[in-house]
Amino acid sequence: MKKLHLLLITLLMMATTVQAQDFKFDEVTYTPQQTTFRLFAPANAKKVVVRIYKDGQGGKALKTIKMTEKDGLWTATAAGDLMNKFYTFDMGRGECPGVFAKAVGINGKRGAIIDVEKTFPEHWCCDTHPVIKSPADLVIYELHHRDFSIARSDAKYPGKFLALTEPWAIEHLKSLGVNAVHILPSYDYGSVDETRLSDNKYNWGYDPVNYNVPEGGYSTNPYDPYSRVREFKEMVNALHEAGIAVILDVVYNHTYDIEHSNFQRTYPDYYYRKSADGKYSNGSGCGNETASEKPMMRQFMIESAKYWYNEYRVDGFRFDLMGCHDIETMNAIRAELNKLDPSIFIYGEGWSAGQCALPTEQLGVKANVSKMPGIAAFSDEIRDALRGPFSDDTVSGWLGRLNTKKPGQFESRVEVESLKFGIVGGISHPQVNMKKVNYSQKPWATEPTQMIAYVSCHDDMCLVDRLKASIPKLKEDELIRLDLLAQTAVFTSQGVPFMLSGEELLRTKQGVHNSFESPDSINQLDWSNKERYSKVFKYYSDLIALRRNHPAFRLGDADLVRKHLEFLDAPQPVVAFRLKNYAGRDDWRNIIVILNPCRATMTVDIPKGMYTVVCKDGEINEDSTDKIFGRRTTVSPQSALILHD
Ligand code: CA
Repeated sequence: MKKLHLLLITLLMMATTVQAQDFKFDEVTYTPQQTTFRLFAPANAKKVVVRIYKDGQGGKALKTIKMTEKDGLWTATAAGDLMNKFYTFDMGRGECPGVFAKAVGINGKRGAIIDVEKTFPEHWCCDTHPVIKSPADLVIYELHHRDFSIARSDAKYPGKFLALTEPWAIEHLKSLGVNAVHILPSYDYGSVDETRLSDNKYNWGYDPVNYNVPEGGYSTNPYDPYSRVREFKEMVNALHEAGIAVILDVVYNHTYDIEHSNFQRTYPDYYYRKSADGKYSNGSGCGNETASEKPMMRQFMIESAKYWYNEYRVDGFRFDLMGCHDIETMNAIRAELNKLDPSIFIYGEGWSAGQCALPTEQLGVKANVSKMPGIAAFSDEIRDALRGPFSDDTVSGWLGRLNTKKPGQFESRVEVESLKFGIVGGISHPQVNMKKVNYSQKPWATEPTQMIAYVSCHDDMCLVDRLKASIPKLKEDELIRLDLLAQTAVFTSQGVPFMLSGEELLRTKQGVHNSFESPDSINQLDWSNKERYSKVFKYYSDLIALRRNHPAFRLGDADLVRKHLEFLDAPQPVVAFRLKNYAGRDDWRNIIVILNPCRATMTVDIPKGMYTVVCKDGEINEDSTDKIFGRRTTVSPQSALILHD
C-alpha cells in the first residue's frame, strides 16, 4: 500500500514537472541541418532512444540516438537532413511514433518527417470555412468513406478520401441540401491492415492508433506519408468549395488496445484510468478508458483538436462517448477552440459504454450538458421515441403506433411526450411534461442548439431495417411513408438535425444491427436506389430545403422556441405544433406541423384560418397553391401535414 502511495506521488510529481497547459506535443522539429525530437516520458525511464529509418517498415535503423531528460521531457537532436526519413521512440516498451505524430508510414508504425508544404492542395491558400451562423442552421450528414463510395460505379476513388472530391459526390450532397458531413473516424486506426487493402476489410474505425494523422486505408497510397495528408486536405477543400463543412469524429476516450498504444509505450499508465481495484477501467466498452482529467491527456485533446482545425481546416468535432470525458476538459476544448473560431461546432455522445472511473457528476454525460455551454449531445429521447428503444430492435416506437387503440410496450403518452421533447430541442418548455419523457426527468439542454435531433446513425439498425424489424408485415408503401414521417420530425425539430448517409436512398444493412466490421455488401450504399426511390430522395431534399428556407424551424434560442412554438391539442398519438407569429422573422406568419403515425386519417383542430398546404401525402411543395380554410383539418395516414398562413 505504501509502495503504491509513493508511486502515485512520484507519478503525480512527474506529471506536473512539464507544464501541461503550455505543452505543444511538438515531438519533431525539423531543419535541414538538424532535427530535434521531444517526448513526454517518465523521468525515471532507464533509457529512451530515437531511431531513424529509411522506410516506414522493415530495415535496420540508420541511427539510434539516446534522449536525455530534463524536467520530465526527453530530448535528442539528430544532425543532418532527415527530410522524408522515418523515426520511432523507444523507452523500453516497444517502438512507436510518439503520441503526436503528424505523418506516418504504413500502418502508422513509424513517424515520418515530411515537407508539409507539399501536402497543400492547389487551392488551399483560398480555402475558407463555410459560414455557419448558428448550429441550428447545420444539416449534418454522417458518412463512412467506404459506405458512401465503394459501390458507386462511376467513382474514380471508391472508398477513399478523394471520392468526396468527385463531381458525383459533391452533386449528390448539394442536391440533398446538407451543409455538413460528419465523417466517421478518419484518423489512423488499427483494425484495417494497410498492407492488405485489397482484402477490402471493413471497419468503422473506432480503434485509434495515431490521433493526428489521417487513416492510410482511405488514401491512395498508405506507404507514402504524403498521400493521406494531402488527400484529406483535398477532400476538405472540395467540400468547402461546395459550401459543406467537415466534422471529424474524434475518439479520444479509448485506444485500439493498451499494451501497444502510443500512450502506453511512451508513458505507461499515465493516460488511462484505473478503477479502485487497480484494474484498467473500461468505460468505453472497448477494453480501456483514457483519463481526460489528467493534465497531459487534457492538453493532448486540446492540442489535437486545435491541430485538426489549423492544419486540416475541419469545422467541427463529434466526440465519441463524450460521457467518458470530464466536463472540465470538454469546456477547456470549447474555450480553446473559441479563440480560433467560435463557430466550430462540438457535439458528442452524452453517455459512456460502461462504468467510468470518475464520478458521473464530473463527466460529459447528457445530464451535464447544461454545464457545457456551446457543446451539444445526441438525443436518444427523440430517436427512441420515434423508432423504439435501443435495447430491443423488435420493439417499435411512435412510428409503430399504427392505430390509436392498441397500446404496445412503449406507452403512447411516453412516446408523444418524448417526441415533443425532441421537437423543442431538449430544452424546458411549458407544454412538455418531463415526467412522461422516456430517458430524462429534466430538460438537459439550455439552448436547442445543444441537442442533436436524429432517428438513426451508424450505430444500430438503419431506419428502414428498424422499421421492418419492429413493425410486422410492413408493406413497402407504408415503410416509405413512415421513413419520411420520421425524418419530418427530425428536420422540423428545433435541435440540430442529423441524418445517417444513405437514408435518402432508403438504405438497408440487411437487418445487421452492429455493422462495424460487416463487409461492404452490408454497409455500402446502393446507388441504384436513387432512381428506384426517386420520390424518397426528392422528399428528403425538399424537407431539408424547407428547413433551410424557413428560419422558424431553426430558431436557435430557447426563449424564442418557448415564445413561438406551441403544441396543439391532437388525438393521441398525433403530434401537432405551431410556429407562430413570424417565428425567426419567417415569411410565413404561422406554420402548423402535424405528424400522424396511424393507418387512419386523423382529424385535428387548428386555429381558424386560411392556410396553404406545403407538405401532404409524402410530397413537399413550398410554392403550393393548395388551400384549406377553417378550424379543422385532416392528416393522411402515416404522414406529415405542414400548413402556413
Ligand atoms: Ca491505419
